[in-house]
Amino acid sequence: MDDDTAGASLPSGPDATKRRVTYFYEPSIGDYYYGQGHPMKPHRIRMAHNLIVHYSLHRRMEINRPFPAGANDIRRFHTDEYVQFLRSVSPDVLAEPSFNRSQKRFNVGEDCPVFEGLFNFCQASAGGSIGAAVKLNRGDADIALNWAGGLHHAKKSEASGFCYVNDIVLGILELLKVHRRVIYVDIDVHHGDGVEEAFYTTDRVMTVSFHKYGDYFPGTGHIRDTGAGLGQNYALNVPLNDGMDDVSFRSLFRPIIQKAMEIYQPDAVVLQCGADSLAGDRLGDFNLSVKGHADCLRFLRSFNVPLMILGGGGYTIRNVARCWCYETAVAVGVEPDNKLPYNEYYEYFGPDYNLHIVPSNMENLNAPEDMDRIRNVLLEQLSNLSHAPSVPFQTTPRTAQAPEEAEEDIDRRPKPRIWNGDDLESDNDDDAIDPQYRTSSTDNQTSVNTEMRDVVDEMDEEKTD
Ligand SMILES: [Zn+2]
Repeated sequence: MDDDTAGASLPSGPDATKRRVTYFYEPSIGDYYYGQGHPMKPHRIRMAHNLIVHYSLHRRMEINRPFPAGANDIRRFHTDEYVQFLRSVSPDVLAEPSFNRSQKRFNVGEDCPVFEGLFNFCQASAGGSIGAAVKLNRGDADIALNWAGGLHHAKKSEASGFCYVNDIVLGILELLKVHRRVIYVDIDVHHGDGVEEAFYTTDRVMTVSFHKYGDYFPGTGHIRDTGAGLGQNYALNVPLNDGMDDVSFRSLFRPIIQKAMEIYQPDAVVLQCGADSLAGDRLGDFNLSVKGHADCLRFLRSFNVPLMILGGGGYTIRNVARCWCYETAVAVGVEPDNKLPYNEYYEYFGPDYNLHIVPSNMENLNAPEDMDRIRNVLLEQLSNLSHAPSVPFQTTPRTAQAPEEAEEDIDRRPKPRIWNGDDLESDNDDDAIDPQYRTSSTDNQTSVNTEMRDVVDEMDEEKTD
């Protein structure tokens, strides 16, 4: 219907209009280290920043160093006990008996290790997203970027999936001081569970998550999970299968987001740009190119609504840096040269030294008929919202939380893990095997595919009820 650069038709002007862009970066962020073999590497944010600077994109935006979020800021979503734990824990004190039980209670250890400077890391990540919201609230910028944010799995009182403090929830709460309705869009390969849960019972935040579903972390994000109470139908979930490519992704993303923007009429947009949905990710199984991934940002930018852009997952770090650099270029409205400029981490980007990546030939297990069904179910869900809710301005919605588990269950029930603990690679490279050399077991694919079909069948059965 339209070419790569086309966007939505805008009441407020053509998409070509320049945007005022503000960018948050903490220079020490790349020094935080989750531990040997751990796939989450804050270094990738420094690599992305380095590319951004060498493409001279920093000259086209305002650069900020975030104020560290204070404990009081973090407590706007997280519980006192959990924040106190994060402030006081360190690798040195972990062995003390008093911390033994807290580790289980707050789910730190395996996926979410206690590392040196953990709380400072959380403060920088959250400080960037809150700062981004403040800039948008004041009307000082049209687009605000924080690649150290996007940590969507963190819960009110526990860490999850490499995330400790939910900077996204904190950023959205800040936006809600000024904006009536905020739409949250999540293109990480994992379900945006922490954000969805926080706003599950309010109509002031619409959450839309595109993710792999079926025997995959965190296990939530079924298409029929649509919100509760006042928030009924204001949560949208797009469950996908392995091998998702640019064309299929766009064929769902654009119509669903177009309709959500029309019906909900948000005053601000938050986009979580988790880069583990790219081809060749160490933990993800999608097959998006950098351009396909960035098309989501290009499309949302075209609506000309205040936009916060955050990072998230992404475990083949050379590709994460490529992706977030290119997305920064899309935000400021330039098309960078595919040939990478020389930079401090140049050797990571061989053998081609290009900005863009070539997707693999992996099979796309998302059948066209399944895509059609998913699209139809979600467009119908949006149709049921006849108009944008008008809400009293000064009230901040209460964030919801899943019911507390009984004390004894906390020890017994194993938490799902995002990473099986295998150190797939030597530690000083991030570099997973090149996408074209990746193989996956056909058996595995079949079983995931079957599960996916079950989900779609189930959804049809419910529909005919
Ligand atoms: Zn992820």
